[in-house]
Amino acid sequence: MARIVGVGEVLVEMMATAPGQGFRAPGLFAGPYPSGAPAIFIDQAARMGASTALIACAGDDDFGRCVLDRLRANGVDISHIRAVPDVATGIAFVCYRADGGRDFIFHMGNAAAGRLTMDDIAPAAFDGCDVLHIMGSSLFAPEMGAVMRRALALTQAAGGKLSFDPNVRLELLTRPGNADLIRELTARAHYLLPSEADLAFLFPGMAPDDAARRLLDGPAACVFLKRGAAGSSYFDRNGSFDMPAFAVTEVDPTGAGDCAGATFMACLLEGRTPQDAARRANAAGALAVTRRGPMEGNSMPAELDAMLEGH
Ligand code: ATP
Ligand code: MG
Repeated sequence: MARIVGVGEVLVEMMATAPGQGFRAPGLFAGPYPSGAPAIFIDQAARMGASTALIACAGDDDFGRCVLDRLRANGVDISHIRAVPDVATGIAFVCYRADGGRDFIFHMGNAAAGRLTMDDIAPAAFDGCDVLHIMGSSLFAPEMGAVMRRALALTQAAGGKLSFDPNVRLELLTRPGNADLIRELTARAHYLLPSEADLAFLFPGMAPDDAARRLLDGPAACVFLKRGAAGSSYFDRNGSFDMPAFAVTEVDPTGAGDCAGATFMACLLEGRTPQDAARRANAAGALAVTRRGPMEGNSMPAELDAMLEGH
């Protein structure tokens, strides 16, 4: 069984209940929902049968327990998630615009998530680590660059590889060093899981397929490109293919990219072909958008089998 280690944030999410509802006037929010992009990824990888661990910080509060209970129940090793006594678990508030876009307010760098330091990157977590998965959306505190580099060094010492989702968040790019750090981690990754928007950041003005191929000029072995309702594409040095999406009615897109990426990685590490891994990733992403809540759309292998049989 392949071992995947994630480093990043755990959060709870509070979701606006009405489309068009904004943050400048009172409204009803539903939650707390377990969230945090690396948490969604690692939960889905665990559901797919991988051996998983997440390194993160949570508050010693019921929001933290809300996320940790979920991860534990799905088989994630949460022993490297530190409970910080004096701050609350991170929170994301999300509102849905009438045009389908989303607005977020994050309490992340100023919450327990922002307390992650080099000391949290315990060598023991990397015993037998095949893949370290990290994401550009986790660069919310000044020390995250050093944290990520240490995790990568320990992974490489264990013979493991880096999986990186640039997951570019414009609000985080203004932080000093973050844009360069995203480029550095992209250049050091073995597996790359970008979206089209991420490629537009990395290679402005370049067509997504050309940009994905450019990524293969570096050490990356393959690129799994997430294209929303258009499905996904896969690139390696032998060629590329497009994998069509499953036709579903989108209810909530949050978390689909993490869920699809985790499914792709877990399937590939299990020895499935890139085609099979991409098909299953698209099935998982499609299921994810049909369910409300960032981690609520994660699925089990039997659900993916049923989805594949239905098509
Ligand atoms: P984010 O960063 O916003 O979490 P992402 O851009 O990384 O998302 P997406 O491309 O939105 O990831 O979604 C991942 C996968 O989920 C897609 O490759 C696709 O297979 C599937 N998917 C997403 N949206 C839809 C949709 N509306 N219909 C069917 N499948 C979808
Ligand atoms: Mg993404």
